[in-house]
Amino acid sequence: MFIGHFAASVAVKAARPQLPFWACVGAAQLVDIAWAGLIIAGVEQVRVVPGLPGSPLELVHMPYTHSLLAAVLWSVAGALVAARWHGVTAIWLGVAIFSHWVADLVVHRPDLALWPGSAVKLGLSLWNLPALEMLLEVGLLGLAVAWWVARRVRAGQAARPAIGWFIGLLVLGAVNAIPGDPPTPAGLGLLALLGFAIAIALAWLVDRADRPQLPTPGPSAAPTLH
Ligand SMILES: [Zn+2]
Repeated sequence: MFIGHFAASVAVKAARPQLPFWACVGAAQLVDIAWAGLIIAGVEQVRVVPGLPGSPLELVHMPYTHSLLAAVLWSVAGALVAARWHGVTAIWLGVAIFSHWVADLVVHRPDLALWPGSAVKLGLSLWNLPALEMLLEVGLLGLAVAWWVARRVRAGQAARPAIGWFIGLLVLGAVNAIPGDPPTPAGLGLLALLGFAIAIALAWLVDRADRPQLPTPGPSAAPTLH
């Protein structure tokens, strides 16, 4: 799952518009951002197996990012850090972080451990039905964006930044779906980080567009000197 994760980012942003959208987008992918870093560092392991349905990734070893226990800890830690700026509302960013594991559970082949070292590995393997999996990803994101746009319009905000971000994400998802992954795990990690950086940067542009326009001081607002 790649673009499907962003459905949670959008849903959290729609539910709590005061949260910065870039943080919502980063939260839903935080576990994979950490995964890419640990893949590059050689701490977690992935094999690229061309021909596997849905995703060519065989996720051999990822206890520190994708075990259930790790996902809970990442979510709590992320919410606690974000609470410094967003108070109690940061719980929603914790929910977005944890949503990543739930979405991965649906699509991954059984590679999600319960805790580091646990023999039980979970995954409902929707990747094995690639057309249905893609439909679910795009459908969830589309529904979330439709709800977000409706809420924005009701609140008197422009729909355009949200729709622009959605189109940007679809382009990113299409590029991601082009077959031909880099052969090395480190290359894969770098490419993943680049994709996440673009998605977060596009979200930051939405935040910038949403920022209230400050009135430019006219002659009457100029300070008078005495
Ligand atoms: Zn993941």
